[in-house]
Amino acid sequence: DDRNEVRLSDMIADVSTLLQPQANLKRIDLQVEMIEDPLLYCDKSQLKQVFINLIKNAIEAMDQAGVIRIKAHTNADKCHIDFVDEGPGIPLSIMHKVKEPFFTTKKEGTGLGLMICNQILEHHHGSLSIFQNTEKSGTTFRVSLPLPLQ
Ligand code: ADP
Ligand code: MG
Repeated sequence: DDRNEVRLSDMIADVSTLLQPQANLKRIDLQVEMIEDPLLYCDKSQLKQVFINLIKNAIEAMDQAGVIRIKAHTNADKCHIDFVDEGPGIPLSIMHKVKEPFFTTKKEGTGLGLMICNQILEHHHGSLSIFQNTEKSGTTFRVSLPLPLQ
């Protein structure tokens, strides 16, 4: 484990640069909206792995051109980073299983991505929540992390 104070937007910029080519193949645009841009006390490569897993899932979920929104804000002592896709959403019947190891609905899936996200976030005293989008179809994955004490 290798924790430091890292600027959230630096990690987001790194992962969106990394994944934009994969998104471009499906004409998906990654849009970043930083309402706040806190310093996080974290293992940078581990947290980037969380963001990569969530954005990859979002890209894989979308079968049409569209937008994946990455939005960050803080409130009180937490930072929330939302990954909002325009895919079909997650059926309620499997919602309780998606974080389980080896659960996948993909032909070549490992079913490990969300389990790894969960593990890394637990090590950072954070959490991963899942919401169905209300306005458009799709899913929002929310990463919540504690802010370092000032
Ligand atoms: P994998 O991507 O290898 O299938 P994950 O742990 O990353 O494994 O995801 C588990 C399952 O959760 C996926 O197979 C899919 O059914 C569901 N899932 C994850 N992210 C999304 C998403 N953004 N939209 C719809 N379903 C999703
Ligand atoms: Mg995955």
